[in-house]
Formats: sequence, structure tokens, C-alpha cells
Amino acid sequence: MRHGTAQNASHDGWTVCLTFDFDALSVWLASFPPATPAKLSRGEYGARVGLPRVLDLLAAYRLPATFFVPGHTAESYPEAVAAILAAGHEIAHHSYSHRDPSTLNVDEERREIERGMAALERLSGQPPVGYRSPSWDHSNATLSLLVEYGFAYDSSLFADDFYPYHPRLGDRVGPDIPLQPGAEAPLWEFPVDYALDDWPHFTFNFNPLRVGLSAPSKVCEIWTAEFDYMVVHAPTGVLTLTMHPQVIGRGHRLTLLAQFIEHALAHGGGRFARLGDVARELSAHNLAMEQQ
Ligand SMILES: [Zn+2]
Repeated sequence: MRHGTAQNASHDGWTVCLTFDFDALSVWLASFPPATPAKLSRGEYGARVGLPRVLDLLAAYRLPATFFVPGHTAESYPEAVAAILAAGHEIAHHSYSHRDPSTLNVDEERREIERGMAALERLSGQPPVGYRSPSWDHSNATLSLLVEYGFAYDSSLFADDFYPYHPRLGDRVGPDIPLQPGAEAPLWEFPVDYALDDWPHFTFNFNPLRVGLSAPSKVCEIWTAEFDYMVVHAPTGVLTLTMHPQVIGRGHRLTLLAQFIEHALAHGGGRFARLGDVARELSAHNLAMEQQ
């Protein structure tokens, strides 16, 4: 069952949303403890080398992008976040500490949301409209908290590929309970996928499940094939790529990103956009349809 797929388009052509999770140190502190000096230096690379290169590439092509920034990163590297904002990109919520929300209780989740929001607001002067879970997972409370705190969109779930959708609140389902769908949440989900994320492709981490170190040609093949499928089969679709400055910022990988951008631009008939702008367009479009 696909909810509302056909009408969830507000633009005539394709849309590509380049998104960057600017985790810096937080991912090593929270997601891969113990955070040894070498691990932290991998995060620091993202702030001192990867991010400036990504910003230069986006400027060279004059493309807008969305950066998901943990509050911990915003407070550790305020100048870097100011540079993202000065370039006209969107800053969105990515927790405070990069802890997995599915491991937190509701009070801890609230603290993550509020502290992360305050850190971003201090730099940008306004609350973020988008959220991405640091673990690409939710607790049973996350979605209702995002609604309560007024987020316009989430980008952490997997139930579609090219069309943003409304994730559901209060589904009932279990091994012995067939799905009883809950109500659609009043926010947009921009679905993600591990094949469209630079981290699993590239990040080596001394773990058989985290081999990484792919050739960029392999990843370029996957990303461009996904784009080519979309323009034929979902011509008004939205392709969301997830990257990390500490991963994509390496020279050979930045060349891959440039190749992907060139491939999409050569196709024509579409645009690159920030997730927050697409969410706003979709809501306005749906409102206009309802009022007809
Ligand atoms: Zn992250």
C-alpha cells in the first residue's frame, strides 16, 4: 500500500536533494564508543577539510543543499555552521548528541530535541523545520514528538523511494497482530536508503559489517542508476542523497559527487532543492488541491 503517492509532487520535473549529515565528533562519541583520539580525528577531518570542500563544490555548481547538524557539532564548530548558513543552505535538526532515539526514554528524547534546537537557533536565528534521526530509526515516541515540536518534515524512514509521504502515528502491528494502520502524521517523510548513503559504502571501521572503502565508480553507478530510473518511472520524484563531510570530503569521493551532479544536470528537466523548500511546496500544493 502506498499512501498518496501520485499527488505528492509539487514540481513538474525531477528533484534531487543533496543532504549532508555534519556529524563531526558526535558520531564517534555516541555511535562508535569508545571515542579514541584517532576516531575523533576522523570527525575533525569533516569539519576542517570535508566541509569546506563540500561548500566549495556546491558553490561552483550554485546548488542549494540541506545540512543536518547535531547540536554538539553546532557548539563545537560554530564558524563552520555559520559558513553553511552564509552560503544559503538549510540547517536541520540531527539530535544534540547523535544518540540513537530508539534507546532513549521520552524525557531523554525531549532533551535531545530541545537542546539540539536551541543550539541551531542560536546560530540561525530560527527553529529548524526538518529532522533526521542520527540512527535512521525512531522510538515509538519520536514521530509524535516531531509533530509536537512543529517539524515540517523528517528524513529517517524507508517506506517509499521517490515520493515524500506522511508516516503514520499509532500503527498496531506485531508477529501475531496484522497491521492496523494509524493516522497519517501532519509532516512529510523524505525517505532514505543505505544504498544512497555514503557512510556504509565508504567508511571502514574494523568490523566485517563496516568494510566500506568502495570504489567511487561503484557508488556512482548506483546513484546515477537510481536517478535514471526516477526520471523515467517517477518523473516528478524526489531523490534524497545522504552524505557526510567526513566521508564524501575525500578527493576521490568528491569527484564522484561532481560526476553525479554533472549527470543530473546533463539530463535537464529538473532541479536541486533543499528539503525544507520541497516540504513547504508540498504542503502548499496539497492545501491548494484540497481547496479546489
Ligand atoms: Zn549523523
